[in-house]
Amino acid sequence: MSEAAQQTAPESMQPQPLTAKAFAARSAVSGLAPLTIPRRSPQPQDVQIEILYCGVCHSDLHQVRDEWQSAMPTVYPVVPGHEIVGRVVKVGSDVTKFKPGDLAAVGCMVDTCRTCANCRAGLEQYCTTGFTLTYNSPDVFLGGVTYGGYSEAIVVDEAFVLRVPANLNLAGVAPLLCAGITTYSPLRHWNVGKGQKVGVVGLGGLGHMGVKFAHAFGAHTVLFTTSPNKTADAVRLGADEVIISKNEAEMSRHADSFDFILDCVSAEHDLNAYLPLLKLDGTLCLVGAPEKAAPVAAFNLLMRRRSVAGSAIGSIHETQEMLDFCGKNSVTSDVELIPIQQINQAYERLLKSDVKYRFVIDMASLK
Ligand code: NAP
Ligand code: ZN
Ligand code: ZN
Repeated sequence: MSEAAQQTAPESMQPQPLTAKAFAARSAVSGLAPLTIPRRSPQPQDVQIEILYCGVCHSDLHQVRDEWQSAMPTVYPVVPGHEIVGRVVKVGSDVTKFKPGDLAAVGCMVDTCRTCANCRAGLEQYCTTGFTLTYNSPDVFLGGVTYGGYSEAIVVDEAFVLRVPANLNLAGVAPLLCAGITTYSPLRHWNVGKGQKVGVVGLGGLGHMGVKFAHAFGAHTVLFTTSPNKTADAVRLGADEVIISKNEAEMSRHADSFDFILDCVSAEHDLNAYLPLLKLDGTLCLVGAPEKAAPVAAFNLLMRRRSVAGSAIGSIHETQEMLDFCGKNSVTSDVELIPIQQINQAYERLLKSDVKYRFVIDMASLK
C-alpha cells in the first residue's frame, strides 16, 4: 500500500482489491490459460464494468508472443484484450457520466499524463510522457502491469470509458474500440471522402473496418488482399474494386492513381509494391505493426512527392465520435463469436488470415 493511502485510512479500512477470472499467457510460448487476477476497488473517479464481450486484436497476439520486444516488451503473465464492451456494475462517488446498468466500453488506453502538449490538445493517444495501456503497462494502483479485457471485470477511470449507442449489436461493437478507431482516425485525419480513390491493404479486423469506413465516407474504395477467396465479402463490406496484391500486372494497372492507402497488414510485406500506386502527394499510412521493419525505396517517394505515414488508435474524444457515427449509420464489425476456451485456436487461425473478420470472446463462457 502507498504512503498516501496510509495517511488517509488505516490499513484495515482500505478497500481490498477485487478479484476477477481471466485468461493469461505466462510466457511467449505458453498459450493462454485461466488465471485469477486482482482489480482495484473503484476509486471516486472509477467505473467498474462487467465485461460482456472482448474482441481479439492481432496486437494481442503480437504481445502475447512478445513480438514487439524492442518497442514494448511483454511482462508476464499478460492478460490481453483492448476491445471491451460491458455493463457498469458500480461507480465511484465522483463519476458523472455513468450509472450502474449503463452500457460502457473501453479501448486501448486507460490513462495518460493529461498534462503534456498532446494530451492538452486532446490527442492523448500521442501522450509524450507515457500513457497507461489497457494491458502490459505499469499499474500505478496495484503494482505490476495492467490487465486487459480477456476477463470478467475491469475498473477504469471514467475519463477513459466510452458510451455505447443502444441500437447496435454489442458483440459487433467490441472491435470498434480498436479496429474501428484505428482505421476511422487516419481516414478522417487525411480527409478521405468523395472523389478520392482510397486503398485498404489486408482484409482482417482492421482492414474490414477500413473498407466499411472508407465506403461510408464516400471514397472509391479498393481492397488489396492476398486472399482471393475474400473478394465477394470485400464487395459486400463496401469495396468498389478488389486487387489481388500478388498479381503484379493487376497492381501495375493502378499506378499513379491512389490518393491514400491504409496499410492494415500484420506481417512482413513489401511497401514498395504499394508506393508506385500513389499519385502526386499521395500517402501510404501504416496502421499495421509487423514485428520487422520494412525498407522503403527513396525513388518511390521522391518522384511523386509521396509520403509514408503512421497512425495510432485515436483519442478518447474521436473514439466517442466514431461510436456515435456507427450508432447513427448502423456500422458494426463482422464477428465470429467464440468461447474464451477457444482463444488459442483463434490465434492460430488469425495467423492464417482465417477470420471473418474479427474474433470476439463471449465472456459468459468465463463464468
Ligand atoms: P488481422 O485480423 O490478423 O488482419 C491482418 C491481415 O493482413 C490479414 O487478414 C491478411 O489480409 C493480411 N496479411 C496477413 N499476413 C500477410 C502477409 N504475410 N502479407 C500480406 N498480407 C498479409 O490483424 P488486425 O487485428 O487487423 O491487425 C493488423 C495489424 O494492425 C497488426 O499488426 C496489429 O498489431 C496492428 N494494429 C495497430 C494499431 C495502431 O494503433 N496502429 C491498432 C490495432 C492493431 P488478406 O487475407 O486480405 O491479405
Ligand atoms: Zn488492437
Ligand atoms: Zn500526456
